[in-house]
Amino acid sequence: MPPISDEDWASAIEEYVNKNKVMIFSKSFCPYCTKVKELFNSLNVEYYCLELDKTDNGPQMQRAMAAKAGKSSVPQVFIEGQHLGGCDDTMAAHSSGKLLELLNPESEKYDYDLIVIGGGSGGLSASKESARLGKKVAVLDFVTPTPIGTTWGLGGTCVNVGCIPKKLMHQAALLGQAIKDSKNYGWNISGAVEHNWAVMRENIQNHIGSLNWNYKVQLRTEQVKYVNAYGQFIDDHHIKAVDKKGKETPMSSRHFIIATGERPRYPDIEGAKEYGITSDDLFSLENSPGKTLVIGASYVALECAGFLSALGLDVTIMVRSILLRGFDQDMAERIGEYMAKEGIKFIRPCVPQKVEKLESGEHKLRVYAKMQSGEEIIGEYDTVLFAIGRNACTDNIGLDKVGVKVNSSNGKVPVENEQTNVPHIYAIGDILEGKPELTPVAIEAGSLLAKRLYANSNVQCDYTFIPTTVFTPLEYGCIGFSEEKALETYGAENIEVYHSNIMPLEWTVPKREANACYCKLICLIPENERVIGFHYLGPNAGEVTQGFSLGLKKGATKADFDAMIGIHPTCAEIFSTLTVTKSSGKSTLQAGC
Ligand code: FAD
Ligand code: NDP
Repeated sequence: MPPISDEDWASAIEEYVNKNKVMIFSKSFCPYCTKVKELFNSLNVEYYCLELDKTDNGPQMQRAMAAKAGKSSVPQVFIEGQHLGGCDDTMAAHSSGKLLELLNPESEKYDYDLIVIGGGSGGLSASKESARLGKKVAVLDFVTPTPIGTTWGLGGTCVNVGCIPKKLMHQAALLGQAIKDSKNYGWNISGAVEHNWAVMRENIQNHIGSLNWNYKVQLRTEQVKYVNAYGQFIDDHHIKAVDKKGKETPMSSRHFIIATGERPRYPDIEGAKEYGITSDDLFSLENSPGKTLVIGASYVALECAGFLSALGLDVTIMVRSILLRGFDQDMAERIGEYMAKEGIKFIRPCVPQKVEKLESGEHKLRVYAKMQSGEEIIGEYDTVLFAIGRNACTDNIGLDKVGVKVNSSNGKVPVENEQTNVPHIYAIGDILEGKPELTPVAIEAGSLLAKRLYANSNVQCDYTFIPTTVFTPLEYGCIGFSEEKALETYGAENIEVYHSNIMPLEWTVPKREANACYCKLICLIPENERVIGFHYLGPNAGEVTQGFSLGLKKGATKADFDAMIGIHPTCAEIFSTLTVTKSSGKSTLQAGC
């Protein structure tokens, strides 16, 4: 082999400089080199460092480096192929801001490093985290009013028209139940106990108002620019922000995150939008909704029907097919049975045909509907609440102008690690295809994405074993596989289900229904009975379920559950003593504590 020439050493150095965005030639013992490396570490900037004292042919390399840099001392720093200099030069460039410009050569071309479209759970999380990492960030949030004109403040669905008002109204419902229970515990509540919608509404809306305000303050503190305008892409790096007066402001950014969420769907029937409402309107209604027809049978429908009924209203649910599609159907039917016993009427299988306004009479609206059998039914109500699913807000934001792919059948955005098919445009939250539509999921995905974009992190959002709770009158918490999905995925011979009814101790004194509460663990036999499905129907389901998600994520087996020692007397302790398998056919009914 011919001896390696000076040109060969030069081209080796050239390759290091060209291949690495930040290239540092260093010596491992040199304090100035350490100082420079520490600076880049503190900025979360990735660099490649060649320690000349630890490299074969170090002296030759150093000579070639000196020829390129014009200096033989170390460190020598190159950014994007450009020579920056040694330690003092690097520190000076950092102080003057030149270093950041060199590191983000494109940023200076744009108004922002990142524009987030949508200031809900996901958007706020991503924008605040990115700003904390030193980026120049703007977040646009705009609420298009509902057909009856309802609108709200910063924070998105969860805070304004989702989790927060829903859980607080559910709490109002639980308090009503507690008042009933309290008599057997010796409380003497004299006089008529009745619920006042207006008081509840005002206090909940005031709380929401304080959350809206806090979000604005947080954005200001984190130096995120909040723009109360509707964002639409114009081209690859440009959007227009259209405010409520129609004024358009152009804005540009190096990166974008789309976090526009979803809005409730209306059926294509006469009178739906004119006379019906959705969850976007319900929580801020001035007056009690009165006799209510809830149309739909998933999360939103069952939760809203549950608290309205417990507040004393006459509630009917019109179900097109099954309850809680996608959830364990055994659990879903138990929820339905309990709700029916609590006085909620179910019409199923049935779909609405028309809603019309009544000019006089006891109620305000008449609803025509068709049973699956073909029979036509007519009912009169004060409020018709549509809870038939939600549409992703992706059809009017100019995604076609930038070529972001959208699933045309549902408006959802397919992503790989939250990156769309257009590399500088990302998406998070409810608009993602095939991901759970839950607040903590949007928040986690947003924050992890920001860290990957701006802090050299490689941690991805893990969408498996995400716990969730349906806040129906009897709450339902679950993690992982439904029984049906487990059987379909692994085959009946590989699945064992352990189950039991539960009688909460607190329910005994007020003589509430025995054995309405229930739980089961779905175990994968070939993997040492690893628990792949957790289901709990009973009080405080959210609190009970949350901690167990850690166990399922960590691969806990049935034996691990058995090895737990329960906390007595609680409902959750049942998971440490489950012995009855479904296949045994043995009774799971509980006699007492
Ligand atoms: P969102 O929070 O919806 O935020 C999107 C924001 O972007 C909105 O403010 C929207 O107005 C704005 N926007 C849209 N287009 C534009 C545009 N072009 N320009 C500017 N702004 C725009 N999840 C739970 O985890 N637990 C619960 O108990 C729970 N309960 C729920 C109850 C109900 C009734 C509903 C409807 C949902 C519930 N969810 C719950 C789901 C949860 O609210 C969502 O998963 C979460 O809000 C999704 O966050 P996101 O950031 O994707 O979107
Ligand atoms: P879903 O899409 O989950 O369910 C829609 C329901 O409406 C189904 O029961 C469906 O019936 C029915 N439906 C659809 N079209 C019609 C129609 N034309 N006529 C009659 N019925 C119809 O929607 P949701 O709005 O309930 O929930 C959306 C998401 O929000 C959930 O997936 C969840 O992630 C999130 N969420 C979370 C909550 C929580 O964490 N506690 C609470 C509320 C929402 P069919 O089964 O026949 O299709």
